[in-house]
Amino acid sequence: MDRLTAETKIKELVKRIERHNRLYYEQDRPEISDQEYDQLMRELTELENQFPELASPDSPTQRVGGEPLPFFEKVVHKTPMLSLGNAFGEADIRDFDRRVRQAVGSQAVRYVAELKIDGLAVSLHYENGMFVRGATRGDGSTGEDITQNLKTIRSIPLKLTKPLTLEVRGEAYMPKAAFDKLNREREERGEALFANPRNSAAGSLRQLDPKIAASRQLDTFIYGIGDLQGETVESHSEGLDLLESLGFKVNKERRVFEDVEELLAFIENWTEKRPTLPYEIDGMVIKVDSYSQQEELGFTAKSPRWAVAYKFPAEEAVTVLEGIEVSVGRTGSVTPTALLKPVSLAGTTVKRASLHNEDIIREKGLLIGDHVVVKKAGDIIPEIIAVLPERRTGSEVPFAMPTHCPECGSELVRLEEEVALRCINPMCPALIREGMIHFVSRTAMNIDGLGEKVVAQLYRDDIIHSVADLYYLHQQRDVLLGMERMGEKSVDNLLAAIEASKENSLERVLFGLGIRLVGAKAAKVLAEHFGHIDAIMQATEEELTQINEIGPKMAASLINYFAQPQAQAVIERLKAAGVNMEYKGIRVESGADLPFSGKTIVLTGTLTQMSRQEAEEAIARLGGKVTSSVSKKTDLVIAGEKAGSKLEKAEKLGVAVMDEAGFLEVLQTATP
Ligand code: NAD
Repeated sequence: MDRLTAETKIKELVKRIERHNRLYYEQDRPEISDQEYDQLMRELTELENQFPELASPDSPTQRVGGEPLPFFEKVVHKTPMLSLGNAFGEADIRDFDRRVRQAVGSQAVRYVAELKIDGLAVSLHYENGMFVRGATRGDGSTGEDITQNLKTIRSIPLKLTKPLTLEVRGEAYMPKAAFDKLNREREERGEALFANPRNSAAGSLRQLDPKIAASRQLDTFIYGIGDLQGETVESHSEGLDLLESLGFKVNKERRVFEDVEELLAFIENWTEKRPTLPYEIDGMVIKVDSYSQQEELGFTAKSPRWAVAYKFPAEEAVTVLEGIEVSVGRTGSVTPTALLKPVSLAGTTVKRASLHNEDIIREKGLLIGDHVVVKKAGDIIPEIIAVLPERRTGSEVPFAMPTHCPECGSELVRLEEEVALRCINPMCPALIREGMIHFVSRTAMNIDGLGEKVVAQLYRDDIIHSVADLYYLHQQRDVLLGMERMGEKSVDNLLAAIEASKENSLERVLFGLGIRLVGAKAAKVLAEHFGHIDAIMQATEEELTQINEIGPKMAASLINYFAQPQAQAVIERLKAAGVNMEYKGIRVESGADLPFSGKTIVLTGTLTQMSRQEAEEAIARLGGKVTSSVSKKTDLVIAGEKAGSKLEKAEKLGVAVMDEAGFLEVLQTATP
């Protein structure tokens, strides 16, 4: 970038950041997410580093917070209340550690890690043990006097256990439950909602009427000493202990570390456990413990060099909906997918989000070009959880669901009681292709090396027309070799994987056929009950519905499917190719004495010897039932590597735990 462009860009960024600072710090009503704000700040910092001569001394990168509100008395802080430098990942923490160690030379370093409470910073003054004054951080050197409001918070002691004169710093926050209650009440009264607990805490404390603050159920955690007379402490951890003994509420989840690896593990653990807390945290604060080392490290204009704020990766992000793609699944259901401007979310780049169905588009009033909030939790596909109509520019356009199938052109229908539109043409190429993709997938025939793209290409190039054709592909080796990215080796592997899949137990074939309403579980039940596909094909509705798990709808769907000549032909061809049609698993007779009979089992962590699905199947074969969460009713937790909160919970509840080796042993002794 040349200097002139940089100058223009810097000016624009400063203007935007200053506006967001005012909205956030002074009016408690931010318009953008913290992640978007941090991104703007990062851009500005990078430009200022590249062109230091363009960085003005009053740039937002050099200043703390916002102006104090004029109608409050001002309080000048004896020592400035600063911000914290940010760390956005492991590498930033390692960098921080490196800088600290460089500065203190050969001395040993200890860090204190604390939760970063998402509220607002307050400073509390005590004279001879009595609370005399409390203030906000304001612009770092001057804050607002909010003593009367702070007095309404029960966790702030009005009198300390010792008559000390001191100034302490902490975070005032609103617990999640209080925040939800407040917003529910505001909604009922038709008032504007607070964006998050931080803003509602700040808004509550910066009210002239203390009755309002009193009604808001605010709380505090005190995390530091600004000034202390008549007592000496040598380190931050000692300081926190002293604060606790004086009657302040200090967060218990603090830990001291000498080893960065352990510190990183602690951070990772909290990244996972964070939703279980009754209050919001937006990261962790890491501080050098020793006060003398803190002094040695000193401050920048904006933050101490001896501390850093680790910000959790966002689980929500704001981006732009650039388009909506419509696709047809194997059952003919038509689903829209959001195409997003790529955005980083929980450590990955997100470009697509599920929209489930048209009603969601309508309910949320989505327009193409809208700013949207996307959320990702765990491994779940990201979804759009909110639209931000206030950020519309007028150039957004509505989206209309197609009336005809995008693949075969036949008219889409909405079946009774269904939300989704469907293509009901059984010859629709999308249905056939997606059906074949389902057949080879992990949960069905599990044919390694035959991914979605290859199946789609084989179908498009007229090489296969049904799943049965897969088992005759060896006769077309040359055709396969002519395909893109298919060498001798990959063709051999592919044919071997197809060959191996012939040995699968019946339930995999049955599930793979993609019979409507017949999921993996029902396929298993049917395979186990009837033993052979011929018996299932001949079963009457009555025989089918006699089985507990099979209802009349599923029975009808099965009978319907097997009555179709095309389906019969496919099954015949599969049989002729040597695909196994018998159930091979263990028959679970009721009362059978299997190792996991009647046991409720939870799997957690990563298993090294088998996939999760294989483990679940094995447990079921041996009589056990797999559930997802640990409770008192759980009989056993099987914990693989890196097991986290579920293992902890099991230990807490005294539930039996088995490691992978133990599990494998049970499998080996039990499998005939
Ligand atoms: P910060 O929130 O990143 O970190 C400093 C603050 O952390 C301290 O002032 C203190 O209040 C708090 N804190 C919580 N627990 C702590 C603990 N245990 N020890 C020490 N401090 C603790 O920095 P900041 O300057 O207060 O605010 C900047 C951040 O505010 C941005 O990164 C952004 O997330 C947010 N912001 C958002 C907008 C917006 O428009 N969305 C605008 C301005 C700022």
